[in-house]
Amino acid sequence: MQGTILIIDGVATNRIMLKVQLSAAYYRVVQAETVADIAKTAQRCRPDLIVTAMSLPDGDAVDVKHALAADEQLAGIPMIAIDRDNDPEHRLAALAAGVDDVLHRPLDDTILQARIRSLLRASSTQEELDLQRGGPGYVLPLSSPHISAGLSGAHVALVTDQPATGVYWQAQLAPRVPYQLCHHQFNAVHPLMREPVPDAIVIELGRNTLAQGLRLLADLRARASTRKSVVIAIVHPTDPAITAEALDRGAHDVLQAGFDVAELALRLNTQLRNKARIDQLRDNVRNGLRAAVEDPMTGLFNRRYAKPFLERVARSAAKTGETFAVMLADLDHFKKINDRYGHPVGDAVLVEAAKRLQSALRPVDLLARVGGEEFMVVIPSVGEAMAESAASDLCNRINSQPFHIPGVDTPIYVTISIGAVIGGRRPASDNDAKGELTQQDQDSAVSALIANADRALYAAKHAGRNQVSVAELAA
Ligand code: GH3
Ligand code: MG
Ligand code: MG
Repeated sequence: MQGTILIIDGVATNRIMLKVQLSAAYYRVVQAETVADIAKTAQRCRPDLIVTAMSLPDGDAVDVKHALAADEQLAGIPMIAIDRDNDPEHRLAALAAGVDDVLHRPLDDTILQARIRSLLRASSTQEELDLQRGGPGYVLPLSSPHISAGLSGAHVALVTDQPATGVYWQAQLAPRVPYQLCHHQFNAVHPLMREPVPDAIVIELGRNTLAQGLRLLADLRARASTRKSVVIAIVHPTDPAITAEALDRGAHDVLQAGFDVAELALRLNTQLRNKARIDQLRDNVRNGLRAAVEDPMTGLFNRRYAKPFLERVARSAAKTGETFAVMLADLDHFKKINDRYGHPVGDAVLVEAAKRLQSALRPVDLLARVGGEEFMVVIPSVGEAMAESAASDLCNRINSQPFHIPGVDTPIYVTISIGAVIGGRRPASDNDAKGELTQQDQDSAVSALIANADRALYAAKHAGRNQVSVAELAA
């Protein structure tokens, strides 16, 4: 089953014909006749797409759109309206209300099917992102300030056969949309592929440029850089087969009857709004993943990230034969700082300490906050001498200059103790054991490293703090 489509039409024969067409393409079809109760029906059957007659016994397609807009979970369902005849006024009104496309009778089955495929493709991206966020149903409201802000700065490129056409389209469009516009010819589209890529690309599919245009369309959808850009094709002269082909090659939208500035402006708005919403979801997913492994106070990685990182370093060292360093670093007498200056100042000291430690490390090294005032450092590809000097450097970054915390008159003197251990060394007795370590061996090797670093840290504290102690190699 490819998805569920809700058909809304007051005329029984229309519904039946559509149902036959869509069922033949393996969609599950649910039917309704009126605008009343449409939100309830949609909640119940959870359609992936809605195909509605433009005019209904108790309203029209715009009313359906409004009825669903009130419910966040239904507002994003793509919608196609079918008009009795080709009435530009109806079409523009529906597009302005956010209906994704308007087709008219007699219905061209190829176009209808291609349109459905293209809308379902776009909405499945959103669904995937919803799931990654931890559950479906999160839809950013269309009026969100992020989306409006994204829209006004959007960059739109027009690709035409003749430069004069590009100039004309741009001049027509400029007063109607808040976007930055530019135009290109087919033989000079390379700038489109370079970052920052346009948010939307409008391609002329005219008689002379058909082959080039379709090729460019497929190319834009295939490239990583432009895959997230909106692509709108302008087909002229009208040809249903080309419209269907453009949609199947990945066009988000098509103007079937050539350039019409009002229609292009509305379709750009809808598509860019959808894109802003998907971009925002993508960011949320990325930020959510990041948040799970980040300590919000210092911005450092947390323990959840540190352990697998260390395991990766240990695995790669086992392959290359290199050694690496693991350190646990703990601020000295931190409780006293809290007691004397208060917890918020303690927090500020932690943030500054994290910054200082980070500044002593390379991008390939790991610094994580693994406890209240405890940090883990992993330095790949170093031996004992380098590890020791790196650890001393870390100590010096903390103790060489007192901390100046805003709002505190006196400088605060802070020190740190560090326990270090060298990983990746094989005991002498292991010389002929050349086989791969098992996962269990790896896990216990990593746990043993951390325990040794902890013992070394304890030794450093015991020896008077503000110093480095390197663990002796276990025999
Ligand atoms: P030692 O030199 O032995 O490590 O002494 P210490 O005082 O640093 O160690 P102890 O474990 O006795 O106390 C650690 C203190 O760190 C206690 C706790 O209140 C404080 N702490 C832990 N997390 C935070 C935090 O996020 N912010 C602040 N301000 N304090 C914290
Ligand atoms: Mg401490
Ligand atoms: Mg501690």
